[in-house]
Amino acid sequence: MNEVVEKVIAGDIRTVARLIRDIDDRMPHVRSILKALYPHTGRAYVIGITGAPGVGKSTLVDRMISYLRQRGKTVGVLAVDPTSPFSGGAILGDRVRMQRHSMDKGVFIRSLATRGHFGGVTQSTRSAIDVLDAMGKDYIIVETVGVGQDEVDVVKSAHTTVIVVIPGMGDDIQAIKAGILEVGDIFLINKADRDGSDKTMTDLRLMIDMDQKKFAEGRWKPPILKAQAVFDEGVAELIEAIDRHRAYIEETCGTLRFRQQRGRVREELVQMIKDRLVEEMIGRLIASGEFDQAVDLIADGSLDPYSACDDLVLPHLQI
Ligand code: GDP
Repeated sequence: MNEVVEKVIAGDIRTVARLIRDIDDRMPHVRSILKALYPHTGRAYVIGITGAPGVGKSTLVDRMISYLRQRGKTVGVLAVDPTSPFSGGAILGDRVRMQRHSMDKGVFIRSLATRGHFGGVTQSTRSAIDVLDAMGKDYIIVETVGVGQDEVDVVKSAHTTVIVVIPGMGDDIQAIKAGILEVGDIFLINKADRDGSDKTMTDLRLMIDMDQKKFAEGRWKPPILKAQAVFDEGVAELIEAIDRHRAYIEETCGTLRFRQQRGRVREELVQMIKDRLVEEMIGRLIASGEFDQAVDLIADGSLDPYSACDDLVLPHLQI
């Protein structure tokens, strides 16, 4: 077996850190490693945490780590920032709060920023989850910054997704409503020490209940919890709710292995093919100079972007 694969399975922190960086940098050699690691995945429970910047996600994750560690569980954390490929350093800086766990061998924390690439953050996150899973982490917490479509896609890789809001975010909740309500398994109103948490609770309840799909008999009804992460309030209740959701998935799906669910498999495979094609195609066009040539022609007005796209892509499709 490949040495890297062996070391990941043995939980070697430096090897895992390097591999995750290579995933983030989309190095082609990681594919063969991921293939070899795949049979060792499928054990971890993945929790997605999303919400606008400043709502207290990293404070919350820090408390969740402590709580899960007290229960003897190992924890991996991936902090994902899909909105800004250049903030890799910044996001890591933000996660200083969690770094008190960095001496603990049962905890592994990394940021993913997918530096300078064309989308693909969802795939990078999934691959990084597979690595932490193969490494033997019991829980993997994926924290995303922001509440856009990319973040929604990222948390789809989680078994349980927690949407964090704060009191008085009424208008923002409206704005993010469309994508976010569907992916939220648990809603958490953090900073409940502030005014307005009851009103936020009522607003959220109304919105979730209006979402027709959630009415269906036997479906999971997302609980709305309150917390004060900074004072360690409500974290135990959150973990309990996650446990309940886990039991619900196991009961209704018969498995926690996403890759045994055809819908999920289909979605992941489509995404992978897309990423791979874009990567290969744009990589080739850049290497041959055709890409920059086309950019120049469009920019100086001698070519339209529609024709440029045809000129670039079509020759490669006629195999
Ligand atoms: P993130 O950007 O969502 O990860 O938010 P942070 O975890 O960095 O928290 C942003 C700020 O909110 C920090 O100053 C925290 O100390 C503070 N904070 C976190 N939880 C609470 C809470 O329950 N109540 C109050 N008042 N402040 C909190």
